[in-house]
Amino acid sequence: MDLKSGYPFWAVKNGLMCAFPQLKADIGCDVVVVGGGITGSLIADELGKNGFDVVVVEQRDIAWGSSAASTALLQYEIDTHMVDLARLYGEFHAVAAYKACAEAITDLRDLAHELGDVDFDMQESLYYASKRGDKTALREEYDLRLKHGFDAQWLDAGSLKGRFGIKAPCAILTKLAARVDPYRMASRLLLRLAERGGRVFDRTVIDTIEPSDDNVILRTPEGFRIQARHVVMAAGYASQKWLKQSVAKNRSSYAFITDPLEASDLGLLASTMIWESARPYLYMRTTGNGRLLVGGDDDDTDIPARRDRRVEGKAKGLSQKVKKLFPDLPMRPAFSWGGTFAETEDGLPFFGEHPQYGPRVQFAMAYGGNGISYSMIGAGLLRANIEGRTHPLAALFGFSRVG
Ligand SMILES: Cc1cc2nc3c(=O)[nH]c(=O)nc-3n(C[C@H](O)[C@H](O)[C@H](O)COP(=O)(O)OP(=O)(O)OC[C@H]3O[C@@H](n4cnc5c(N)ncnc54)[C@H](O)[C@@H]3O)c2cc1C
Repeated sequence: MDLKSGYPFWAVKNGLMCAFPQLKADIGCDVVVVGGGITGSLIADELGKNGFDVVVVEQRDIAWGSSAASTALLQYEIDTHMVDLARLYGEFHAVAAYKACAEAITDLRDLAHELGDVDFDMQESLYYASKRGDKTALREEYDLRLKHGFDAQWLDAGSLKGRFGIKAPCAILTKLAARVDPYRMASRLLLRLAERGGRVFDRTVIDTIEPSDDNVILRTPEGFRIQARHVVMAAGYASQKWLKQSVAKNRSSYAFITDPLEASDLGLLASTMIWESARPYLYMRTTGNGRLLVGGDDDDTDIPARRDRRVEGKAKGLSQKVKKLFPDLPMRPAFSWGGTFAETEDGLPFFGEHPQYGPRVQFAMAYGGNGISYSMIGAGLLRANIEGRTHPLAALFGFSRVG
């Protein structure tokens, strides 16, 4: 499965940060994590530092899947409004999901500080109404967030124009958001894991998984075998092919990044990420050295060749949208790309065991626009599952919610 097209900026900027050996022997461990993207890295890190003997197996180079294509806006505000989640699952569960996402931002901040040099920065996040008709929904969302103690500020059209220069009916502004270089973070996490005694193998494909009551046997096409007490399937969008049940739809998102811009031109954009209520939404944020990273124009394409052909046109379209929002911003795409992501019906991820494999195989499907915040939550959730504890979000983020 080819997960990205064009020139994903993290791959261009970082090159190949690390290489690990291929698996060339039979081995055993406590937990094998299949997939060395940001999800697998965060989970492996959580398990490794809590005493598990962890093995990570990645079929490509580390973090070279969709993690290299991610625009990596870290937000507690997920694609589904808290109001809509409350309608689906009740207010208690909707608030719990949002609170966990908020905690994930500060957990990612702490982890980024430990690792150092992953272009992490706390940001504000501005969510504006794309059209007048969205104003009521945004106000309802703001009121519910306020009721439950979330940091949020209401901006009417006047203050939005005055502070940000954006012409839109209204917006919600929050201080709790962040940005990171996801490729660098995943690579540094796995390098640290290896330094601490964990084992990481890249260019190694897992072909079969055979769970039994006592353990799980995984095999590579070359015939090597890993025996583990537990497996975490953090294979990104490829995880779906291991399940007979269909739980998500693959889509493509597109992005471009500019050359570094002057701080005076960026203004508040340097410290504020921006997105909107339209679906698919336009989203943008900056990097530490002042590049503007813009994404959106998602479509249903799941065919790499078709996505490849669309990258340039999509970047042009996205750049026109930014020009409409900020007519005076001198910018043009320097690198553009597209990548696969997956969407669940309710915007929530899937973490946990599936009846098809039983309790020794834990899935980590951090699907949705906030995949990285979900991955951070998933690390704690799957550790709890493996340790036999009940995590407060296990049911809401588990497969049982879709029957
Ligand atoms: C353009 C774009 C923009 C995005 N923007 C954001 C954003 O702003 N904020 C956000 O939070 N999220 C965003 N996302 C989503 C986020 O990038 C994903 O949630 C995240 O990258 C998923 O990481 P992962 O580790 O689960 O998947 P991946 O990075 O794809 O890693 C899975 C790995 O598993 C490996 N693998 C698969 N099968 C096997 C096998 N059988 N054996 C061995 N290895 C295997 C793959 O090679 C792959 O490297 C965006 C995604 C895209 C594409």
